[in-house]
Amino acid sequence: MERTEMEKKPVLYIVIPCYNEQEVLPLTAPMFRQEVARLAEAGKIDPDSRILFVNDGSRDETWRIIQELSAGDPHFQGLCLSRNRGHQNALLCGLMEARDRCDITISIDCDGQDDIRAMDQMVEEYLSGAEIVYGVRARRKTDTFFKRFTAQAFYRLLNWMGADTVYNHADYRLVSARVLREFAGFREVNIFLRGMFPLVGFKSTCVYYDRNERLAGKSHYPLKKMLALAFDGITSLSVKPIRIITGLGVIISVISFLLILYALIAWASGRAVAGWASTLIAVALLGGIQLISLGVIGEYVGKIFLETKHRPRYIVSERTEGMPAEGDGQE
Ligand code: UDP
Ligand code: MG
Repeated sequence: MERTEMEKKPVLYIVIPCYNEQEVLPLTAPMFRQEVARLAEAGKIDPDSRILFVNDGSRDETWRIIQELSAGDPHFQGLCLSRNRGHQNALLCGLMEARDRCDITISIDCDGQDDIRAMDQMVEEYLSGAEIVYGVRARRKTDTFFKRFTAQAFYRLLNWMGADTVYNHADYRLVSARVLREFAGFREVNIFLRGMFPLVGFKSTCVYYDRNERLAGKSHYPLKKMLALAFDGITSLSVKPIRIITGLGVIISVISFLLILYALIAWASGRAVAGWASTLIAVALLGGIQLISLGVIGEYVGKIFLETKHRPRYIVSERTEGMPAEGDGQE
């Protein structure tokens, strides 16, 4: 859908991944609906815009709720993945399905933590020329100290490791269909969307909003999952860890060389003593460093292993009526 006539308003798809969200979905769905209505009334988007839920293999009533919403109002649409594939894959699925049906997408979590009102400003920025608008959390007052601290450490670590991400931006963002069509060429299976969109380029900007508490239900990102996400982000976007290992290798080699010189001189001058402590320390230290290095390199080999298989990143098992499978050769 191209913006041909001047008065044609962009069609917006709000893409929302949902995993076990039966408590919060009935609360937030009307809020998304209201936002679409408001934006359409203000003449900023086409009234035929949609709210697209992607059910990420939930084990609760989430999919049934989505189906009911869709039956009651065609503005609600849903896709159901064949199993739980994780937030990033679910979101990717929604974006890829939306890309040929709309002009712009906004991705957001379904728990109401991100201020839905910020969409006004995002659309505004799009209308004035931006192709990607990153939602950035201005404050984290309502998060616990632990969540705030780990989240900040997460962004610092990512950037320091060479994975370029927008600070304090999660996955609340506006992306135009044009960018999504280019993004479809990024075929990797290890995906870290917030770090990949900056790689696509195009004009982008940020919009700031306050982050609230989850309206209901509980977070699916405990520390363990967050660490896994950070690690995936780093290894899918940067080879800096391998460079660090190389650097470490060089430094240790230089030190070892000096030690060898020292040992030789000591031996030649007949001062060589049975220094078990220094031997033990050297062996333990080197053993540890070598194991860590092997682990990091193994991580990349594992990534290559997964990439070479080219497995599908998600499989859609069910759809609501308004989201038929892509017809003949639409790709
Ligand atoms: N989510 C998902 N699949 C998963 C885990 C989470 O689709 O395996 C969705 C979840 O329903 C929510 C969003 O991803 O809409 C963010 O999850 P959550 O709110 O639990 O994370 P947090 O905001 O605490 O970081
Ligand atoms: Mg959340």
